[in-house]
Order: sequence, then C-alpha cells, then structure tokens
Amino acid sequence: MLTCKKTYRDIPFAHRQHNHDGHCALIHGHNWGITLTFACSETDKNGFVVDFGKLKYLKQWIDEHLDHACLFNESDPEKDALLAAAGHLFKPYVLPNSSCEGLAQHIHTVFDPMVRKQTNNRVWIVEVEIIEDSKNSANYRP
Ligand SMILES: [Zn+2]
Repeated sequence: MLTCKKTYRDIPFAHRQHNHDGHCALIHGHNWGITLTFACSETDKNGFVVDFGKLKYLKQWIDEHLDHACLFNESDPEKDALLAAAGHLFKPYVLPNSSCEGLAQHIHTVFDPMVRKQTNNRVWIVEVEIIEDSKNSANYRP
C-alpha cells in the first residue's frame, strides 16, 4: 500500500459543544486544518497515489460547508433555534459531533466515498487528522 497526504490549513469556522461543562459550550471559533491520508495499491499512470492538482472537489466541499461556518451537533437542544436564527448572520452546518474527533470521523464519512468515486475505487482515505488551532488534533482511522 502506498499513501500520500494533503493538508488544508487555516480554515476558520466555529462550533459549540453543548454538553461541555466549561467554555466549550459557548459558540467559539478556531483556525482548523484537515490532513487527509490517501492510500492505493496501484498508482496512476504518473506514479501518483492522487494527483494533488485534481482534488479541487474536496477544497470546494470545505469552502461550501466549513469555511466561515458554525458547526452544531445533531443532538444540540438549541439546534432548531440556532438554525432559525442563522439567516444571513452565520452559515450553519449540522453533524453528529463537532468535536475534533467527531469532525475527523465525519470528514472521512463524507470524503472517502467522493475519493473512491473520483478514482474508480483505486484510492481510499485511510486517515483523517483534524487540527484545531496550532495545539490540538485528533485522528480517525476506520
Ligand atoms: Zn473549540
């Protein structure tokens, strides 16, 4: 198996952990990074796992859904009120859990099928790392 990594850095978005007993329950923002580890058994005709120049569909998804967004957990008791208030004030994105760990798992769930489809199942994602600011990170490996 061969692997390669692509990192998207300095993506600003907010989240809230409604169950947290501290300040993480408040809506707050970070600068995020997403590192994807791609894997394949056979490279393409160029000897690449993936062509880094042909991953625009992933960047586009990040720009559309995460960049300058506000992430909420599906189980957030304020979800409906937050979504109703969103309007032009913020761009909401709801996922199972907006923690680093939850985001790593969610990004894998969304991106892995996209990558498999784009590469005719030649490539898959073996790991997603989510980096929160410069100090914290979490990894998901299925
Ligand atoms: Zn946070």
